[in-house]
Amino acid sequence: MRSFSIHVGRLFGVEVRLHLTFLILPLFVFWTEYNANHIASGPRDLALVGIVLACVGAHEVAHMLVARRAGLIPKAVILLPLSGVTVFDESHVQPPQSGAAVWQRDVRIALTGPLVNLVFALLAAGVISLTVPGAKLWEWPFLQPSNLPRSLVWANLYLAGVNLLPAYPLDGGRVLRAYFARSIDPAAATRRAVSISHAIAMILMVAGLFSNAWLTMVGVIIFSAAQLEERAVIFQSVLDNVRLEEVMLTDFATLSPADTLEDALEKAVHSLQDDFPVVRGSDMVGVISRQRILEALRMEGNGYVQAVMNKIFEVSVRQESLATAFRKLTSRNLSIIPVVEDQRLVGIITLQNLMHSMALLAESRKLRRDESNS
Ligand SMILES: [Zn+2]
Repeated sequence: MRSFSIHVGRLFGVEVRLHLTFLILPLFVFWTEYNANHIASGPRDLALVGIVLACVGAHEVAHMLVARRAGLIPKAVILLPLSGVTVFDESHVQPPQSGAAVWQRDVRIALTGPLVNLVFALLAAGVISLTVPGAKLWEWPFLQPSNLPRSLVWANLYLAGVNLLPAYPLDGGRVLRAYFARSIDPAAATRRAVSISHAIAMILMVAGLFSNAWLTMVGVIIFSAAQLEERAVIFQSVLDNVRLEEVMLTDFATLSPADTLEDALEKAVHSLQDDFPVVRGSDMVGVISRQRILEALRMEGNGYVQAVMNKIFEVSVRQESLATAFRKLTSRNLSIIPVVEDQRLVGIITLQNLMHSMALLAESRKLRRDESNS
């Protein structure tokens, strides 16, 4: 989701990104306008896109401010034509609170967005009907570049309406998920909300074929957004529930600090490992990568592993979760974590092996779930 968006600025200290689908919106408006009237006004079309953007922005800022008051730290917000996605800073996520507090908080955060759009629509309608006599607020089409005041009112109403659909990850779906999460665990609650969301998306897509192309588009967006969320949930549950002993490599090569770099390279050639623990007797004394061995040989010629190995490293124990290991690897830019027990090296975790095993575990969990569902 993040990779398809561009940075546009900061608001209240939070990074604001624009999803690339937003760039299609001006073209779509221009095209529909031209098809309907055979004329199109660039500036007015852009103004309409600007109005939609402002309404989505207000909606997301509302979510963000309530989330922040509840103690969550928003890192970035990605604006889509339909709604937005707030990315929270995961390194600061608080320990899970009691169930009741969490679902009430989620409902409050979710409902604030549509509520703000409703309030804006009412305010705008009030002001416009007093000041713009020819606005004709109830005339079709509601969103039209030639009538921007009316579009302002209806953009807000549409946003509130669409986001209240019980289609996760839209706000209505988030409320539904929070409701499920009262009685079942969060991952299962997400899955249930996602299946309902998929059904709604299907109905919209099919309905759109017989009426308005916009419905199909909304359906497609909901479908893919729901799928993304589900994947993130599976990934997170693997991270939280799998212990290092389940995925660590137990069959691995080690080096000795007294090995020469040429010996080390010779060993590296016969191993699939990119990173090696350096062990003296039974003590872990350092780590070294294949890359580092090559560099040292190229720059300084042959020498000892002792001199070029990395003496600063993190160790983990068997029972730690994948999430902890993953954080250690990424936050310190490490590529290997030795797993020790009573000071003895019992396994290694490398970024490479973690990626492989996580994909495998996610897949096997999905298979097991499909089996239990059928
Ligand atoms: Zn929302």
